[in-house]
Amino acid sequence: MNYYPNFEEKVRIVRQALGHPLTLSEKILYSHLFDWDAGERWNGATGDWQGCGSVVRPLHRLADYGDFRPDRVALQDATGQMALLQFMNAGKEKVCTPASVHCDHLICASDGADNDLFAAREANMEVYDFLSSASSRYGIDFWQPGAGIIHQIVLENYAFPGGMMVGTDSHTPNAGGLSMLAIGVGGADAVDVLTGMPWELLMPRIIGVELTGSLSGWASPKDVILKLAGMLTVKGGTNSILEYFGPGVGTISCTGRATICNMGAEVGATSSIFPFDGNSAKYLSATGRQDVAETASAYADDLRADPEVVRAPSRYFDEVLHINLSQMEPYVNGPFTPDAACPVSDMKRRIQENGFPDRIEVSLVGSCTNSSYGDLSRAASVAETALKAGLKPKASLVINPGSEMIRATAERDGILDTFRRAGATIMANACGPCIGQWRRKVTDNAAKNSIVTTFNRNFAKRADGNPNTNAFLVSPEMAIALAFAGSLSFNPLADSFDGFRFPEPQGNDFPEGGFIGHGSGRIFPKPGSPEPLISPESERLQKLKPFEKWDGKDFISLPLLIKVKGKCTTDHISMAGPWLKYRGHLEHISENLLIGATDAFTGKSGPVAPLARKLHSSVVVAEDNYGEGSSREHAAMEPRFLGVKAIIAKSFARIHETNLKKQGVLALTFSCPSDYEKVRHGDKFDILCSGLTAGTPVKVVLHHEDGTSEEIETKHSYNSVQIGWFKAGSALNSLKENE
Ligand code: SF4
Repeated sequence: MNYYPNFEEKVRIVRQALGHPLTLSEKILYSHLFDWDAGERWNGATGDWQGCGSVVRPLHRLADYGDFRPDRVALQDATGQMALLQFMNAGKEKVCTPASVHCDHLICASDGADNDLFAAREANMEVYDFLSSASSRYGIDFWQPGAGIIHQIVLENYAFPGGMMVGTDSHTPNAGGLSMLAIGVGGADAVDVLTGMPWELLMPRIIGVELTGSLSGWASPKDVILKLAGMLTVKGGTNSILEYFGPGVGTISCTGRATICNMGAEVGATSSIFPFDGNSAKYLSATGRQDVAETASAYADDLRADPEVVRAPSRYFDEVLHINLSQMEPYVNGPFTPDAACPVSDMKRRIQENGFPDRIEVSLVGSCTNSSYGDLSRAASVAETALKAGLKPKASLVINPGSEMIRATAERDGILDTFRRAGATIMANACGPCIGQWRRKVTDNAAKNSIVTTFNRNFAKRADGNPNTNAFLVSPEMAIALAFAGSLSFNPLADSFDGFRFPEPQGNDFPEGGFIGHGSGRIFPKPGSPEPLISPESERLQKLKPFEKWDGKDFISLPLLIKVKGKCTTDHISMAGPWLKYRGHLEHISENLLIGATDAFTGKSGPVAPLARKLHSSVVVAEDNYGEGSSREHAAMEPRFLGVKAIIAKSFARIHETNLKKQGVLALTFSCPSDYEKVRHGDKFDILCSGLTAGTPVKVVLHHEDGTSEEIETKHSYNSVQIGWFKAGSALNSLKENE
């Protein structure tokens, strides 16, 4: 493996070129600049990157874009369909970067793993066939339905310290637990990497998170990120990498670190990363990668921040946060937003003040966030003590293991048996309720109700499509304790119920007998496989037609499609749940455009697509952090497909803004956010963008129905390459034009 000697040498050159000690994030980012490999500059005889000093120029954080060459791409079955459809349009024989496809999002949790997998294969056969044949044809590893959830599979099989990857899923940063800089992107960005094009990223800020002390008792890695979500809020990590360091790091297992990195997405972070150490090496060895563990260990100094950075973090990080792990207590975050953080000791007060339903109806354990062996064994220890005391959970219990390796090992070791004795339904190794794929059995949908989950997101309707469900995020051990107590206000550290007091959870990060089932469900590509077929009659898949080029003129008299009020996540723009099945069919899925968004004039939400079709061309206006949440590019392709020319928001979530740019939708922000209030019902917009250039504001004239008009100024973050995408009609059009 010659990766690490190259990495070490690149880091040396970067340190010299920048003239200061490096954070781990900088080491990985700069060593993945696209130009390193532009020529054969590595001289094996001298062991030097000849003449490569010029490749490295300082990229100013939040100001400069860099072109990067990630080592790997991961695609899930919902977003992967559109990514592969786009890749097919690029006319390449084979992917230029190692990649994997994971069938995890389309499996509906209902009756348990066996039945649900059977039903999923029946319902999604056409999509699975397409993904598997496209994977085989283009050189991609394919993971069958039931093999596991994308991020867990990546951690177990592909993530490696010092590497860089992109994934078409917001929680791709999970691999940061194994010191890989992993970033969630839209399908269009993934296509850039798959086609060997430079992948562009605004150089992020780097927030240092110093961990001291050590976790004990009920406190878990999940609580670290739940607390941090409260500190940073859903926007606090925007355009930033969260880099963890400090003596507390070594007290957290590799999978616990992955949980923390996974949920960095909830504060909007570009990525999150932990340094490499003995815990990382132990996990690599336990998952069959002894060779990587040994080689990485030899270069460990380059797989963590330089000592000067650790000694004086405020000099090298843009912001430094401190968390003392010894003072952590469990957190209960929610409902409706992951940053509504509350220490368990304060929950009684919060429930009383807000009137949350105290009775917990369902407790959901698992997902890509919290389904490691350590998570499940600690959760099972909590269940076991209650079962031994003759208790049964008062809430229903649902378990979603993260991978077949975890499921098979947990089955062998009696962990799943413990959950079954507690009445749990063991679902498939898949996303299920985490992405609205849950056939929840309730009699009254209108009643407010509470559920607890170990997942990472709790936006309204995300788990079961019901706006009356209050979902609270907790650790696995808390989820089990709360399920037995049946009460959201229960604090296992202080309270008893039915005369029973929980002892502290116990668990093992690694099974004594080693993992079994590693790699189950993986299918390797076969060279010479035929082109995947897509029926023109298909309900689920549709070949893409390139979007039309911009005519270079100002947009004149564009009608307002919708003025969105309040939070508008990608779930609101392109709802999941029942719509997931149309992720490969742009025309069909476009019917859900903005169906969950609140209209500022009516206060209601509902179908927007019919009006968009009627108007042909239109504008969307929105408030802050428009497009936060998952990375789905459908949320950008749908408005483009239905004629939305521009979206003017107070601010955008990073991934979504890039996705809009990739699809050729003009993404503008109000220079003065209060100008949002000037937009009236029935407005027409002149957007004077014919001279669009980097860094220059764009004038917009609002024509009101009463005949008056107002001029406002908008800003944009397009650089010259992105302006090229806009001109060509999309990034893919631009790629083809330039080939
Ligand atoms: S966050 Fe949920 S939906 Fe996304 S990959 Fe993880 S389990 Fe699946």
